Amino acid sequence: MASKIELLIADITKIKADGIVNAANTTLLGGGGVDGAIHRAAGPKLLEECLSLHGCKTGEAKITLGYNLPAKYIIHTVGPVWKDGKSKEDFFLAQCYFNSLDIASKYGLKTIAFPSISTGAYRFPTQKAAEIALTEIKKFTENKAIPETVMMILFSQKDFQIYNDAYRRIFNV
Ligand code: ADP
Repeated sequence: MASKIELLIADITKIKADGIVNAANTTLLGGGGVDGAIHRAAGPKLLEECLSLHGCKTGEAKITLGYNLPAKYIIHTVGPVWKDGKSKEDFFLAQCYFNSLDIASKYGLKTIAFPSISTGAYRFPTQKAAEIALTEIKKFTENKAIPETVMMILFSQKDFQIYNDAYRRIFNV
């Protein structure tokens, strides 16, 4: 049976899922935006575990424990920085969603929550990012039992609207 996909306006650090995804940078050592919020909420043990991972390449994903978060695991993925739209940004963003879902499924995570990867400091246009995110999630979860629920956590009403419009186009609802 296909997975359930939910769009929510929320702070991802408060989400009680098996896994939440962090829009990290290549050092995996913390930063601004959602990355900073996740490190603050998870506590200093997260940085200790991240130090042992020796970074992460754009489009790839690595998993850690969730420490003080309500989520059991954090999947750290590195989105592309938007340049000109001709530097494989779409490909790398799709890879972030695919590789994060792949790790979640290998770890048997039934519920996973994504932030809007790359659309903050990395300046990826939100509408294009929403289409890539939801298309990739749809492709991955079709005919797969795990994850059972995939949440997209939006941080503003405006982003929610953009993702909701894309959802309706992609899922024909
Ligand atoms: P990137 O560097 O990948 O662009 P950012 O953290 O700058 O990552 O932004 C990605 C998205 O995460 C933006 O839409 C931003 O508004 C959102 N965001 C920031 N803090 C949180 C949070 N606590 N929970 C959910 N989303 C958040």
